[in-house]
Amino acid sequence: TPSVRVDKLLSSMGYGSRKEMARMAGAGGILLDGEDLTDVSARIPVTADLPQRLEIDGEPLDPLAGLVILMNKPLGMTCSHKEDGGLVYDLLPIRWRSRDPAISTIGRLDKQTSGLLLLTDDGELLHRVISPKRQVRKTYFATLARPLAGNEADIFASGTLMLEAETKPLAPAQLEVLSPTEARLAITEGRYHQVRRMFAAVGNHVVALHRESLGALSLPEDLAPGTWKLLTAAEIAMIF
Ligand code: URA
Repeated sequence: TPSVRVDKLLSSMGYGSRKEMARMAGAGGILLDGEDLTDVSARIPVTADLPQRLEIDGEPLDPLAGLVILMNKPLGMTCSHKEDGGLVYDLLPIRWRSRDPAISTIGRLDKQTSGLLLLTDDGELLHRVISPKRQVRKTYFATLARPLAGNEADIFASGTLMLEAETKPLAPAQLEVLSPTEARLAITEGRYHQVRRMFAAVGNHVVALHRESLGALSLPEDLAPGTWKLLTAAEIAMIF
């Protein structure tokens, strides 16, 4: 197991500068196995049980690096790091904005798309999920402005549909018609505004879009919009 200086670990997790960590420890704010930890230059092994052993200001240590978050993205928030205000990152603890490695969304949902969104600080995992080679299946519930014509499922399944200004046809996608103006669409790619552009390509218009699943992961019924949970290792394995 790798070991790390306590002040360095806590700084990288957004708790504050090393100086602030020394001050916090001096004030009795850091406990290891229930005992005051005063020397923040001490190295401790980074084991998976550290969040249960290290207490910061009376709270268990935040999850260690390598986390995956499943969020029910609400409408009206963006997946960008750059704008300020109305970001999905604002839904996480403030301290987590200062973590290193940084937490990023795995792919993006449009501002006006809701539903299942994953975030991680594991760059390798992020790239595996969005890699075209892996063809991770995503399903969306789409509400449409106009009644479906009836030929959309065949067009989407054909593997020949070309989006405007693109040169490579879309991979086959599966459409399940649920009502004249509602459908579930499963895609394996993640092109820009893909679902909205697919329906535009068949003369329709998406008025509401919600991601229901990614791989074998579905949005839990009890996860309210704007809330999130950490995934277990078994749940992370359900992506692939
Ligand atoms: N397709 C879209 O058009 N928007 C999304 O947010 C996701 C898929």
